[in-house]
Amino acid sequence: MRALLLLAALVAVAAGTETFVGHQVLRIIPGNDKELQKVQELQDLEELQLDFWLAPRGLGYPVDVRVPFPSLQPLKAHLEANGISYSIMIEDVQALVDHEQMEMFRSSRSQLPLSTSTFDYSSYHSLDEIYAFMDLLVAENPNLVSKLEIGHTTENRPIYVLKFSKGGTNRPAIWIDTGIHSREWVTQASGVWFAKKIVQDHENDSELASILDKMDIFLEIVTNPDGFAFTQTKNRMWRKTRSKQSGSVCVGVDPNRNWDAGFGGSGASKNPCSDTYHGPYANSEPEVKAIVDFVTNHGNIKAFISIHSYSQLLLYPYGYTTTPVPDQEELHEISEKAVAALSSLYGTKYKYGSIITTIYQASGGTIDWTYNQGIKYSFTFELRDTGRYGFLLPASQIVPTAQETWLALKVIMVHTRDHPY
Ligand SMILES: [Zn+2]
Repeated sequence: MRALLLLAALVAVAAGTETFVGHQVLRIIPGNDKELQKVQELQDLEELQLDFWLAPRGLGYPVDVRVPFPSLQPLKAHLEANGISYSIMIEDVQALVDHEQMEMFRSSRSQLPLSTSTFDYSSYHSLDEIYAFMDLLVAENPNLVSKLEIGHTTENRPIYVLKFSKGGTNRPAIWIDTGIHSREWVTQASGVWFAKKIVQDHENDSELASILDKMDIFLEIVTNPDGFAFTQTKNRMWRKTRSKQSGSVCVGVDPNRNWDAGFGGSGASKNPCSDTYHGPYANSEPEVKAIVDFVTNHGNIKAFISIHSYSQLLLYPYGYTTTPVPDQEELHEISEKAVAALSSLYGTKYKYGSIITTIYQASGGTIDWTYNQGIKYSFTFELRDTGRYGFLLPASQIVPTAQETWLALKVIMVHTRDHPY
């Protein structure tokens, strides 16, 4: 074990991989306005190189921040000097990353999967493995599943969407995407599981069968392929795309701030080095533009569900404005039912509401745009957990996370089926 860990560390250094040795994730819960303001100011202190896993939301809400080793003492001293208390959520980020690497290494056996029935759904997989999985699923189920290429990334990777359809032309459709933020690994892993679940249940689950009698399902599993590849080779904590920014040494745009809905407003950064950088203009990212073009050309998408992690939330628009959406009441009721279904399996607790009232103001977000395009049933999930592991959720939680989320997805899909518009 120790020898393997050492080997993994040496390989990482040799490959120029970002390491997180001695980094901690601290949780700060601002108790009053002054503390909240102090914590918000930390976001602008670039020299500390802080990585906000959960950005400040408001009084009483946790702020999770990954702190590089050299910044730990100065930050802790700063917090203590201001009377702000904190706790340590993760003692050593690299220890969790190493553990995850080891598990992936063990499960991959250095070859691509041969069948979707022997595929290991309880492990994290590389981009190549997930793309191979998609091809297998299509080959095994040619009458139900097809693979569409909807564009190319900045680094020229193909962008794929799986289509589940029993036939018909341009049927009303449900869209699900996972992994638009590349480091949120439980989401892509859940997307893989959903794909297999749809194939397995499309006849014997009467609800799913009746959904597919009327509608198609589109599933984009790796929505940010460049970022995903980067999390696996260079920096596990990469969130953004990998586009070059003119006039800046920093790379990438937050693809959940790049949509044409309140673009560039509060709740996005104009600094290319920020993790919430909105990009030079709306739809500048090919990963976003590909979906915009697909949705626009399709013209008959009725539900749009964009899946993130973490913090266990189900959210509906808006994020960029406090004005409630006209369908607020209906979306709230669906959320309540979906969360109840989700919790019924393992007791996982979710909160729900509009983005701006439940987390914070965020402009240029995916589902604000889709809602404004007329897709009434627009939702965002934040999957497990609530911060014990954050983005480094153990692989043993992939299947339970996907299973419980699927129950919530079905509530939304059934409602969409029963409320044509
Ligand atoms: Zn996210």
